[in-house]
Amino acid sequence: MTRKKLAWQIFPPFLVIITCALIAISWSISREIETFHTRQTTQDLETRAILAAKQLSGQMSLANRDQVDRLCKELGSSTATRFTAILINGDVIGDSEKQPEQMDNHVTRPEIAQALRGEIGIAKRFSQTLRQNMLYVAIPILDNGQIIGSMRAAISIAELERTLAKITLRLVGGGLVVALVAALVALVVARRISRPLGELQKGAERFAEGNLEQHLPISPVVEIGSVAEAMNSMAAQLDERLSTVLRQRNEQEAVLASMIEGVIAVDTNQVVLRINRAAAQLLQIDLANAPGRLIGEVTRKVDLHRFVERALSSSEPVEAELTVLNKGEERNLQAHGTPLRGALGQQIGALIVVYDVTRLRRLENLRRDFVANVSHELKTPITAIKGAVETLLDGAMDNPADNRHFLEIASRQTDRLNVIVDDLLSLSRLDRDTEKEDMPRTRESLLPILESALQTCATAASAHKIQVNLFCSEQLQARVNAPLFEQAIINLVDNAIKYSPAEGVVTVEGWQEASKVMIKVQDWGVGIAKEHLPRLFERFYRVDAARSRDVGGTGLGLAIVKHIVQAHDGKVAVHSNPGEGSVFTITLAAD
Ligand code: ADP
Repeated sequence: MTRKKLAWQIFPPFLVIITCALIAISWSISREIETFHTRQTTQDLETRAILAAKQLSGQMSLANRDQVDRLCKELGSSTATRFTAILINGDVIGDSEKQPEQMDNHVTRPEIAQALRGEIGIAKRFSQTLRQNMLYVAIPILDNGQIIGSMRAAISIAELERTLAKITLRLVGGGLVVALVAALVALVVARRISRPLGELQKGAERFAEGNLEQHLPISPVVEIGSVAEAMNSMAAQLDERLSTVLRQRNEQEAVLASMIEGVIAVDTNQVVLRINRAAAQLLQIDLANAPGRLIGEVTRKVDLHRFVERALSSSEPVEAELTVLNKGEERNLQAHGTPLRGALGQQIGALIVVYDVTRLRRLENLRRDFVANVSHELKTPITAIKGAVETLLDGAMDNPADNRHFLEIASRQTDRLNVIVDDLLSLSRLDRDTEKEDMPRTRESLLPILESALQTCATAASAHKIQVNLFCSEQLQARVNAPLFEQAIINLVDNAIKYSPAEGVVTVEGWQEASKVMIKVQDWGVGIAKEHLPRLFERFYRVDAARSRDVGGTGLGLAIVKHIVQAHDGKVAVHSNPGEGSVFTITLAAD
C-alpha cells in the first residue's frame, strides 16, 4: 500500500464531499429557481393576457380585425410580449408579431384548444411563425358567459433560459468561491491535525534514538494531547528502567572488573559473551575484541579450549588445572566451569572462572624442596654420628687412640646438628612472628647494634686473624627490632669472615642517603660467580656445599638475613665477583 501524508488522506475526500454537496445544492436550487421563474412568468403572461383581453372587450370579431391587430401590436411592443387574439373558430384576428391573415388557424394549438374549452392553456413549443421556442399562456375571452375567443400571451423561452443561465452562472460562481474557501479551510484543518502528529512522530524518533529526556509538546487537540502525554510517561518509565538496567550493568561490570579471578562466559557455540580484565590478563586475550567471537579465535591456549568443551558438555561443575604460557612464563591456573542456565533451566552456555595458583604451587614446591633439603642436611651429620658410633661399637671403643677421634667426630657433628636446628628454629620463629605481625620495632641508634654484632663475631675473626672495621655515625638511627637486626648483621659478617682468606679485612659501614639508611658488609674474599647471585638468598642454597659445610655453614644464613630485612620493609642486595670479594647492602627507610 502506498503511504500518503495524513493531510493528503483527509483533504481529497473532504474536497470531493464539498464539491458533490455544492453540485447537489446548486442543481436543486437552480431547479427550484427554474420552476419558480417559469411559474412566475406563466402567471405574468396570464395577467398580461387578461389585461390585453380586457382592452379588447367588445371588439372580438372578424370585423374589428384591424383594430384588434393594432392593439396587439401596440401592447406587444410596449411589453416585449407577443399577444395573439384568436376567435372561437381558431382564426387569428390580431398578432403583435405577424399579419393575422397570413397566420394559420390556431384551433389545434394545444393552449388555444384548452382556452377555448374555458381553461387556462399553457404550452412550450417551437413557434413556426417566429422560428424559436416560446412559452404560451392562453386565456378564454368571455362575452355574457359565452366563450368567444382567446387571448394568448407568449414570450421567447430563449429569454427565460438566458435569465436562468445567468442565475445558474452566479450560483456556480458562488459555489466555486465557497468550494475554494472550503478547500482552503480543509487544507488548514488537515494541516492542523497532521502537524501535531508530525511532532509526535519526530518525538517518537527521538525516543527511539535514546533521547528520552526531551518531552513531547502537549497538543491542544484532546486525542493527540493524550497520546503525547502517554508517550511522555512511557519515555519517563523507559528512562527510569534504562537507568536501572544501566546502573545494574555498571555494578556488574565493576564487580567483574575488580575480581582477581578471571571470568569468561561462553554460549553453547563457544562464542564469548562476557570476559573480565583478570581473565584477559591471565589468558592474554584482547579484552575489547573478545565478546562475540569464538573462544578458539580469541586465544590459542589449547588447554582452555578443551576445558571449555568439557564445561559445555557437562551438566555438572567441572574443575581442572591449566598450565599456560604467559609472557614466556609458565603459569598454573585453577579453572572451574559451571553450566549457565537460562530462565527455563536450559543450558545456554558455561561460566569459566580461572585463578592464578602459580605462587601457591611454587610455595608448595618450595616447601617440598625445603623438607627434602632439611632431611638431607640432617642426614649428613646423623650418618657421620652413626658411622662414628658404629665404628666405636665395632671395637674402636677399646682403642684409646681411636675412640677419642670418633667421639670427637660425633661431638662435631652433634654441634653441626645443633647449628642447623638453631637456624631452622630461628627461621620458623621469624615466619611465625612476621605472619602474626608480632615483631615490635623501635627507633634505635644503629651503632650499638653493629658493635654488638661485631662483638659476637670477634672470636671467629680472631681465629682467622681477620680485621673487622666499623664505620658508622652515632647519630644513625632506624626503626628496627634490635635483636633480629643484629642477627642479620651477624650472619653477613660471619659469612664475610668465613669466605675471606686468613688475615683478610672485613668492613662494616652504616650511613644515611636521602631518606634511606644503608648498611654495607664488604669483604675481599672468594667472591661469588654471577650465575649464583639470583638464588643466593634461597633456603639451603649454597655455591659450594662442601666448602660451606667445612666452614660450618648451613645454607640458611642469607635466607634468614633476607627474611629479617623484609620484615623491616627493607631490601638486601649483593654485588660480587669471583676472587674480588663481595658486598652485601641492606637498605632501610630512614624515618
Ligand atoms: P652458608 O651457611 O652456607 O654460608 P648462607 O646462606 O649464609 O649459607 O650463604 C649461602 C651461600 O652464599 C654460601 O654457601 C656461600 O657459597 C655464599 N656466600 C655467602 N656469603 C658469602 C661471601 N661473603 N663471600 C662468598 N660467598 C658467600
